[in-house]
Amino acid sequence: MIRYNYHTHTNFSDGKNSPEEVIQAAINLGFTSIGISDHAYTDFCTHWVTPRSRMDEYIEVLYQLKENYADKINVFVGIEQDAFSDPVSEKFEYAIGSVHWVKKGEKYIALDANRETLEHAIETYYDGDADALAEEYFALVASYAADPKISIVGHFDLITKFDEKGTPLFRPTPRYTAAWQAAAKKLLDAGKIFEINTGAISRGHRTTPYPSEEILAFLGEHGAKAILGSDSHSADTLDCAFLQAEELAKKYGILLVDLF
Ligand SMILES: [Zn+2]
Ligand SMILES: [Zn+2]
Repeated sequence: MIRYNYHTHTNFSDGKNSPEEVIQAAINLGFTSIGISDHAYTDFCTHWVTPRSRMDEYIEVLYQLKENYADKINVFVGIEQDAFSDPVSEKFEYAIGSVHWVKKGEKYIALDANRETLEHAIETYYDGDADALAEEYFALVASYAADPKISIVGHFDLITKFDEKGTPLFRPTPRYTAAWQAAAKKLLDAGKIFEINTGAISRGHRTTPYPSEEILAFLGEHGAKAILGSDSHSADTLDCAFLQAEELAKKYGILLVDLF
């Protein structure tokens, strides 16, 4: 049973609880490690990221909690990056590389806000060609291969968030498959850790973690290292669907590692 989680959000960004409440919940679950990874700042969308003006405070609070709880649990000071957020500060002990946006001209398109936004974007900016959006998305994900500060790749196929309910927006076409396989290969070569992310399960969007079983099978065949992450936005979902995610890792021969 995995007793860690490095993908968690607090009320410094769009999470519900304070970092201390998240740490206490992790201790109650018997975790050995807990990482806090609030959203890095982006200047075009400010309502769910950690404000730039609070970033120093965020880091300070987390290091203080790390010290305060050292005899009970290992606390790690992290950040969830976006391809368009502020660069990773040296002060973080680890960074998750995620992509929540693609950019069309001067416009940023949110990929995981809701189905309507994504559907509208495919029609408006990609002439209905979902594969074109997927190609841009996976190219951004792949760009983390060249960033030594990124250790974990977050929710690899986030664009499929709304595909379980209603007609899927993305299908396993040759172009779609080529796009994710190219990204996966680059990230594998760079030794990045893939995340099996259960965040959409706790929020009722999906019944299975990211990435899809097809991608998990590929990762298993290619000797990927993976980590579980619940992408919790609440202290009561810290180990949501971890057993299911562990079973999937086992099914596809994916090695689950600890980050530290
Ligand atoms: Zn994310
Ligand atoms: Zn997250």
